Amino acid sequence: ATPTAVMVGTGLGAKRGVLFKNATALEASARIDTVVMDKTGTLTKGEPEVTDVMVDGMAEDELLALAAAVERESEHPLAAAIVRYAAGRGIPDLTPTGFRNVPGHGAFAQVRGRRVVVGNRKLMVTEDVAFDALMPRRDEFAAAGRTAVLIAVDGRGVGVIALADAPRETAATAVAELRESGVEVVMLSGDNETTARRIAGQLGIDRVIAEMLPGEKAATITELQRAGKRVAMVGDGVNDAPALAQADVGIAIGAGTDVAIETADLVLMRSDPLDVPTALTIGRGTVRKMR
Ligand code: ADP
Ligand code: MG
Repeated sequence: ATPTAVMVGTGLGAKRGVLFKNATALEASARIDTVVMDKTGTLTKGEPEVTDVMVDGMAEDELLALAAAVERESEHPLAAAIVRYAAGRGIPDLTPTGFRNVPGHGAFAQVRGRRVVVGNRKLMVTEDVAFDALMPRRDEFAAAGRTAVLIAVDGRGVGVIALADAPRETAATAVAELRESGVEVVMLSGDNETTARRIAGQLGIDRVIAEMLPGEKAATITELQRAGKRVAMVGDGVNDAPALAQADVGIAIGAGTDVAIETADLVLMRSDPLDVPTALTIGRGTVRKMR
């Protein structure tokens, strides 16, 4: 490897806010044939907003007060959106006790002596909560690409809060550019399968691996590598860090968490998905010059 080619490549990247941390990252970028992209915060803006609230046997304001009380203790972006929405409606704060986060699933707490569980369908199955009346609506929201958060109070399904997280403006173009250069694009998500597939469809991604628990994302990368793929992983979250470390090239979104940025081999300072194909192009150019 000539130091000059590496310097040129690193410099070209820096101009676009594509920060290669070392020469190895630059060289490995040249050989990537599969790009795995996290959905929330990477392909989407990671700024979910509440779009709909459905209740069953409870007033909407009461549901929001209970859900927000639990979510106030959580650091998940969905939680922050629910808290913001409740505050915007002028709903008073309730104090939770015994808060517990269930990574990849949701959270629960006691609020005014009632056990409130907030999270996905899997969590409700674990908690043995039936959601019969609200399930068709939850499915409709998912089919529309929204994330449906389910709420149970004292073991009964009482509400669904739907949230939308818009794709980043350049996400579809980035996917198209990667595919044109012969790179396969895979979406990886902790969100439910229906929601993830809908967003993937909008972005031109065929291959979706959804409902991944935090620890499973890295295992997915390993499986692709065992199948002979040279994999870049693009992510923003704490959950993505093990997968970023496992990938041949870990790429962090600049707006992402510190853990993701520290773990990655390269950082996209502009948080622009289009800088993924740019990074790979720079890598290929550098390696050509080295021969
Ligand atoms: P992602 O951020 O990619 O969706 P996570 O692993 O953080 O992945 O979460 C997976 C799913 O678990 C979320 O899509 C959501 O349905 C549910 N979930 C996790 N934490 C919460 C929470 N605090 N409130 C509501 N739902 C949650
Ligand atoms: Mg994410």
